[in-house]
Amino acid sequence: IPDSADVDREVDSVCPYCGVGCQLTFKVKDDKIAWVEGAEGPANENRLCVKGRFGFDYIHHPHRLTVPLIRKGGAPKGMNVDPGDWSTHFREASWDEALDAAANGLKGRGREAAGFGSAKCSNEEAYLFQKLIRQGFGHNNVDHCTRLCHASSVAALLENIGSGAVTATFNEIENADVAMVIGANPTENHPVAATYFKQFAKRGGQLIVMDPRAQGLKRHASHMLQFKPGGDVAMLNAIMHVIVDEELYDRQYIAAMTENWDAMKAHLEDFPPEKMAEHCGIPAEMLRDVARVWAGAKAGMIFWGMGVSQHVHGTDNSRCLISLALMCGHVGRPGTGLHPLRGQNNVQGASDAGLIPMFLPDYRSVTDDGVRSAFEEIWGTGGIGAEKGLTVVEIMDAIHASDIRAMYILGENPAMSDPDVDHARDALGKLDHLVVQDIFLTETAMFADVILPAAAWPEKTGTVTNTNRQVQMGRPAVPAPGEAREDWWITTQIARRLGLGWSYEHPREVFTEMKKGMASLDNITWERLEGEAVTYPSSGPEDPGAAIVFSDAFPRPEGRARFTPASILPPDEVPDAEYPMVLITGRQLEHWHTGAMTRRSSALDALEPEANCALHPRTLHRLGVAAGEMVRLSTRRGTVDVMARADRAVAEDTVFLPFAYVEAAANLLTNPALDPYGKIPEFKFSAVRVEASRKV
Ligand code: SF4
Repeated sequence: IPDSADVDREVDSVCPYCGVGCQLTFKVKDDKIAWVEGAEGPANENRLCVKGRFGFDYIHHPHRLTVPLIRKGGAPKGMNVDPGDWSTHFREASWDEALDAAANGLKGRGREAAGFGSAKCSNEEAYLFQKLIRQGFGHNNVDHCTRLCHASSVAALLENIGSGAVTATFNEIENADVAMVIGANPTENHPVAATYFKQFAKRGGQLIVMDPRAQGLKRHASHMLQFKPGGDVAMLNAIMHVIVDEELYDRQYIAAMTENWDAMKAHLEDFPPEKMAEHCGIPAEMLRDVARVWAGAKAGMIFWGMGVSQHVHGTDNSRCLISLALMCGHVGRPGTGLHPLRGQNNVQGASDAGLIPMFLPDYRSVTDDGVRSAFEEIWGTGGIGAEKGLTVVEIMDAIHASDIRAMYILGENPAMSDPDVDHARDALGKLDHLVVQDIFLTETAMFADVILPAAAWPEKTGTVTNTNRQVQMGRPAVPAPGEAREDWWITTQIARRLGLGWSYEHPREVFTEMKKGMASLDNITWERLEGEAVTYPSSGPEDPGAAIVFSDAFPRPEGRARFTPASILPPDEVPDAEYPMVLITGRQLEHWHTGAMTRRSSALDALEPEANCALHPRTLHRLGVAAGEMVRLSTRRGTVDVMARADRAVAEDTVFLPFAYVEAAANLLTNPALDPYGKIPEFKFSAVRVEASRKV
């Protein structure tokens, strides 16, 4: 690492990867990021993980898109383009030609058009993208990757506490005496948050970890519940049964702050631990012990991740967690709270900004006449669609049904991230017109008619909102390469060509407009954010914002939160003789989502260069496969050959496969069955066959 004196400038910004939202400082030499240091942000206090610290050089990779591209006449669409040599399928175009082509193919499409925005862009860019789809096409077919991560958590939170965001920052764990981490693997996926969890345990806090995989936090846990995949509702209901049975609940809190308690109590009678132990694989005594520890805590927090949300019963899982917190009064005080750990750096902000098909900004329903009128007035336009739009997977189905014929995709990669991804790739290939705006020629861009080169996060200005509800400013450290432009500028140019009359010259103007329709941004101004991070809600210009919310009332009728009972709903497909094991997909520390950025980051790619899956050593022995050899994973959707790694953290009937690797794309295997409320696919449970592969 060179000396600070060697750099030309230092630029404070925010990490481009996960929802922890670590602040960092880019050290710039000759218009290149030379290295990165942690900064004094509210979520990280100078800490960074390996991605934030070493995963920055993807922006200088030779694969960056630097000019607008148009598909050559007759060039076939599909996964057959070299991302480093697009000239076989695309030709260079001027910005004017590419924007005209992009807009002309979308214009007048009405309900035949749809859009995917991005949780990797700024709040202003997310806001503009949803506005363009709604204003330009008169409907709400706009979504983004929240549908694939916490949509079911948000559905349950909105239903039961009236708000989709966290009730307390993860840093509040320092005031807790008990914390539950369920369906999350923070040491890999939210590594800086995990450092606070480890410190909590070190200080004597009781850390209850629940996951079908043992994991890094196990070493710090007071209780490790390695439950059967899909056994979560049974396990959580059994814990709550004990709390009711032994009268450990908080009567005063329940009476003052909640509704539907009697129905909840009656429902839980059917879930005694002795009966549920078989369902979830956790002994009854352990379930009783956890119930007593949780209910006996002075202050408890619950953290959860995609292991909770990515199931057909994902909303039910979250309903259980909310009930568990409410019945013990673990919301609204220091050291208490519900915290779904958000994935992408700006998935909270993009959702807040309305990049979802059922809500305008601030989760205001598109079906509400008053809400639509309010936004029509702000936008100076009419015709916002009154029906909820289609979600990510539903849009792919609608393409197959020829109901959607054109798409504008900004920074999403459904050709890698959708479940049963061959279905999604076939859909993308069927579109009459596909515009993709991105920093690399992603697998999705390989299907595009027009590709618009975008600036990467360290090259642009904008605000982002992390998992803690903290709004922070991102600043450009280096210029974008070639002719690449910031996403807000590109979206504005397309809107102009669609006749929408937009005239934004800077993201600051977009933020000012957002504030008109988003009460959550009251007392948060662009000027403030240039100097400090602000947590929403903020009660005044000097208030840094509320780390804890809902101390006195919930944003629901009569200010009361609701208990919603959840019954056991089995996974959509269960193992059988042909597919006897369970496939779980997810992330790993060094790689981010579909790998577009981290696999082009030299340090991260060197650490984890090869597609791999994790199997228990005894499973490998049974298969006659040594660690490092290839295995074949097959489901009803497809087959993948991948290198096997021995890992005692994985149960013997389970295989874990990261989804970052195109050469062993996990989503060729996954089940597209959806949770009926959050419309999230069941990425965390597919019946799979594992066998030795002949590939080497
Ligand atoms: Fe970036 Fe998340 Fe790592 Fe922080 S924990 S440095 S935000 S990837």
